[in-house]
Amino acid sequence: MNATLIDSLRQVSGDSLSFAVGFALLAGLLAWLTLEIFRSLLRVWAENRQQRVALEKLRAQLAETKIRCREAEQAQTGWNGLRKFSVVKKNPECEDVNAFYLKPHDGRPLPQFKPGQYLTFQLDVPGRDKPLIRCYSLSDSPHQKEYYRVTIKKEKSPPDKPELPPGAGSSFFTDVVKEGDILNVKAPTGHFFLDMAKSNPIVLLAGGVGITPMLSMANAIAASGSKREAYFFFGVRNVREHIHKAELEKLAAENDNIHLHIAYSKPSDKDVKGKDFHHEGRVGIELLKEILPSNNFEYYLCGSGAFMKSLTDGLEAWGVPDSVVHFEAFGPATVKKKTAAPTPSETVHLAKINVTFARSNKTVRWEPSAENILEFAKAQGVKIDSGCCAGSCGSCVVAIKSGDVDYLKKPDATPEAGSCFTCVCRPKNDLVLDA
Ligand SMILES: Cc1cc2nc3c(=O)[nH]c(=O)nc-3n(C[C@H](O)[C@H](O)[C@H](O)COP(=O)(O)OP(=O)(O)OC[C@H]3O[C@@H](n4cnc5c(N)ncnc54)[C@H](O)[C@@H]3O)c2cc1C
Repeated sequence: MNATLIDSLRQVSGDSLSFAVGFALLAGLLAWLTLEIFRSLLRVWAENRQQRVALEKLRAQLAETKIRCREAEQAQTGWNGLRKFSVVKKNPECEDVNAFYLKPHDGRPLPQFKPGQYLTFQLDVPGRDKPLIRCYSLSDSPHQKEYYRVTIKKEKSPPDKPELPPGAGSSFFTDVVKEGDILNVKAPTGHFFLDMAKSNPIVLLAGGVGITPMLSMANAIAASGSKREAYFFFGVRNVREHIHKAELEKLAAENDNIHLHIAYSKPSDKDVKGKDFHHEGRVGIELLKEILPSNNFEYYLCGSGAFMKSLTDGLEAWGVPDSVVHFEAFGPATVKKKTAAPTPSETVHLAKINVTFARSNKTVRWEPSAENILEFAKAQGVKIDSGCCAGSCGSCVVAIKSGDVDYLKKPDATPEAGSCFTCVCRPKNDLVLDA
C-alpha cells in the first residue's frame, strides 16, 4: 500500500515537474517572442522616426533651396540705375509720418526684396541745383507683389536750433510729394535684412520711425506662413507717434508666433494701457529680461542713437554675442557700427598720410582720430555732399585722383571704380581727392 502510494506520489511529482518544465519553456518562449516583437516594434518605430527626421530635414533643405532660388531669380529681375515709380497712394500714418505706396511706372513686375532692405530716391527738390539722394526702408512684406511701400517721418529742425530748416528730403516727401507724382528710385539694397531661409527665433527692437525695416520683417514672417517665433518691441512716446498702429495690432492678433510689445515713454491721458500699449517706459534691456524666456535669440535693432546704444550695450552685458546682434543706422546721429580703433602702429602710419583736396587746393596731414574722410573734410572746410552718412546712399561719393582708401564698413552699394564713399572710409596712403 505504501509502495503504491509512493509510486503514485512519484508519478504525480514527475507529471508536475514535466508540467513545470513545460510551463517554464512555454513562458520562456512567450517572453522571448514578446521581447522579439517589442524589439521589432522598437526598430520599426526608430526607423520611422529616423525617416521622419530625414524627411523633415529634406523638406527644410527644399524650402531653403526654393527661397535661395527665388532670391537669385529676383536679384536678376532688379534694375540698374534709376527706375520711375508712381506714387499710387499717400497715407498719413500718424503725426508727421506718411506711408507712400509706389508702383513701377513701366508696369513691369517688381523684384522681390529682402525684408529690412531699403530704396534709394533721387529727389528733384525745388530750389536745389542738384538732386537730393535719400534712403528709405521698405516697410511692407516682400511677398506683397503689387507695390513697394516706404514710411517717412518728417525730420524737424533740431530742438536747439529752431532757426534751421527742417529735413530737406523728408519735408519734400511730406509737404510736396502727392499721389500721381513720379519718383526716381534705385533698386532695393542693403545688408540689414532677415534671412527668410532660417527659422531661428528672433527679437525685433524698434524705436520711432526705426520700425520700418522691422515691420517689413514681421510682415514677411506672417505672409510666408512661417511659424518662426518673433518678439517685436516697439518704443514711442505715445499714440501720436504710434506708426502703423492698426497694422501692428492685426499682425499680432492673427499670428500667435509674433509677440508684440508696445512701450510708451510718455503716454497721454487718453492712451490706454493694455489696449494702445503694453508697457510704460522705454524699450530697454530690463524689459527684454522681463519678457524674453532667455537671451538665446537673434536680435535686429533700428532706432535713435540713444535707443541703439543702450540696447547694444545692454545685450552685450547680458552675454549676447555681437554676431547675433544686427542694427541699421538711419543716419549720422545714430550709433555707428563697431569699427576697430587704429592700432598704435596704424596710428603712427595714419599720422604721416597727406590728404589733398585738389579742387579746394588744400593739402593737410590726416588726423588719426578722424572718423572718416567726410568728417575730416568738413573739419577742414571742404564741402562734400552727404546723405545717409552710413555708406548707403552714395551722396558723398568723390573721385580718387591718386592713392587708396580703407573701408571701415562694407558699403551697401559699390562705388564706381576710382571713387569712394567718403562717409565710411579713411586714407590708406597719401591721397588726392577730387573735392
Ligand atoms: C538705410 C536707411 C534707411 C532709412 N529708412 C528710413 C525710413 O524708413 N523712414 C524715415 O523716415 N527715414 C529713414 N531714413 C532716414 C532718411 O534717409 C533721412 O536721413 C531722413 O529722412 C532725414 O533726411 P532729410 O533730408 O529730411 O534731412 P536733412 O536735410 O538731411 O536734415 C537732417 C537734420 O539736419 C537739420 N539741418 C538742416 N540744415 C542744417 C544745417 N545747416 N546744420 C545742421 N543741421 C541742419 C535738419 O533740420 C534735420 O533735423 C533711412 C536712412 C537710411 C540710411
